[in-house]
Amino acid sequence: MGRKNRRREEEVRPLGPGYSSRTVESHPDGDWVVQKVTGSASTKAYRCPGCDQEIRPATPHTVAFRSDDPQGVEHRRHWHTPCWAARDRRGPRTGRY
Ligand SMILES: [Zn+2]
Repeated sequence: MGRKNRRREEEVRPLGPGYSSRTVESHPDGDWVVQKVTGSASTKAYRCPGCDQEIRPATPHTVAFRSDDPQGVEHRRHWHTPCWAARDRRGPRTGRY
């Protein structure tokens, strides 16, 4: 029984209405697919990995996942947009605050 060599659709589907088109950002730890979510598309509360606080429903925020992760969409994380923007500045050392 040979596995069919099925072609993977590489096109990135939008996650749903209210999600903007994706952009790929280069970060020190790799390339990340980043997508902005409008408040109206945000119907659940999420835990922001940047500050460990809740992102409340209807809050515009940022979704990001590693672009080299084949299951990236499933592993995506929801971030407060400022927390995502500050991510690169958060290192193992905290010198800034
Ligand atoms: Zn946050």
